[in-house]
Amino acid sequence: MKLVFVNIMQELHRFDSTAIISQPPVPLAVLNGVTPKAIETSLVDEQTDSVRFNGDVFAFTLTTQYAGKVYRYADELRAAGKKVIIGGIHVTVCPEEAMRHADAIVTGEAELLWPTVCEDLLAGKLKERYDGSPTPPAQMRPVDYRFFGERPYLTPASLFATRGCNYRCSFCVSSRYMGPFRTKPLDVLEREIDQLHELYPTAFLQFTDDNLLADRNYAAEVLALLRRKKLRFVTMVTLDEFCDGALIQAMASSGCLGVAVGLESIDGDNCVAVGKRQNLGQPFAEAVHHANEQGMQVCALLMVGLPHDTPERLVRAQHYLEQVPCCLYDLRILRIYPSSPLYDQMLSRGDVTEAWWLGKETVSTNHILPGYLRVHFKHGHLSPMQLQYWALKLTSELDRMKCGAVGHALHVGRRGARAEVCGDTLVRPLPHRQAGADVARSSGAGYGRERGDTAGKWGKAITPQPLSQL
Ligand code: SF4
Repeated sequence: MKLVFVNIMQELHRFDSTAIISQPPVPLAVLNGVTPKAIETSLVDEQTDSVRFNGDVFAFTLTTQYAGKVYRYADELRAAGKKVIIGGIHVTVCPEEAMRHADAIVTGEAELLWPTVCEDLLAGKLKERYDGSPTPPAQMRPVDYRFFGERPYLTPASLFATRGCNYRCSFCVSSRYMGPFRTKPLDVLEREIDQLHELYPTAFLQFTDDNLLADRNYAAEVLALLRRKKLRFVTMVTLDEFCDGALIQAMASSGCLGVAVGLESIDGDNCVAVGKRQNLGQPFAEAVHHANEQGMQVCALLMVGLPHDTPERLVRAQHYLEQVPCCLYDLRILRIYPSSPLYDQMLSRGDVTEAWWLGKETVSTNHILPGYLRVHFKHGHLSPMQLQYWALKLTSELDRMKCGAVGHALHVGRRGARAEVCGDTLVRPLPHRQAGADVARSSGAGYGRERGDTAGKWGKAITPQPLSQL
């Protein structure tokens, strides 16, 4: 029996842009690792491969924005007599919907359950629904990255050390539905790191965790491991973690090249409205300068369309952010994911298009692709066209990478040379913009600390705590 794991995402190869954000679908390698030997497996990843279905059974991983597309493929395959199994975050929150397009669905984390699903498949007794449960750390096994072969991902050395998140932002689904926060045993993580370094010796590690640093004791152990291995890495951090100067120093000394920070909005009431209280009162601009001084680049993640956004506020945000030396602003129009508290609130008010993810057009989150500008909700202060205008304006005004650097990254990714030059881009020092930082501190538009309030914070950063005390 031939089973094909399928990752339907963004057709990056069609746009000659595999360098932009492509990374391997690691959860599918986890499942491949627990598939019985009696089943022959392979992978189709739409980021890097032309989609051709050649097999008996197709196991799709499904995220919300690609649901319509996956269901269309699934329906065609089933009409042709093939078996279809669908799992992933969207199936977990919309199981009944997914069941209409699959022979079997798997909700939650699948790795403990997958051998049973495969046995049922081999015995011709596939059930309609399997409900997975959070994998306990003691049962986590190292991922075998040889599954991805020679595919030209921009960041092939992608991995995760933790699962879940200890925060509950109201637009976020993964933290609520994918189980409690857990940490991978360090020996398992080390084996993955060693294999990634062997397979991709020039690539930096990319931790794709929702919140790698949530458990500070575990974070200290991971940072110590990375320091010992002398490897470079990037990851995402929450804003409160990013503004902890000692933590940022510890990350830099462990080889961190850059972080993506969940800023979302510079306005406190927007953060409160979406349950992101950890962002309140944080000295973002100062923290960016501090990270740059430590040799780390910063990508700020921003949203347009949060509840209190107005044209005036977005003008103010642009002026504020122009003074902050991030290397990149990753800006998206708000997406309202089903089963998130924000979706439930907006649906009850009639402000969100029900089942927007089932439309014919894919809703992309990548600003270089069609679909990025799709709007599926009613905003209190901004028309759909204004949301699109501001998304484009802020993207173009705040993008500091400029055409040369992006073109260079595209070229490198396309040649399959992987992350070496991207790594160089991340570590290239930024011009120090002291004047800009002063403007940012005094603009009053951002996170409300005045200069005097932050001095003590960075006093802590200048004298780092021992890692064990982080
Ligand atoms: S901090 Fe990030 S991962 Fe955690 S709940 Fe908020 S958006 Fe989700």
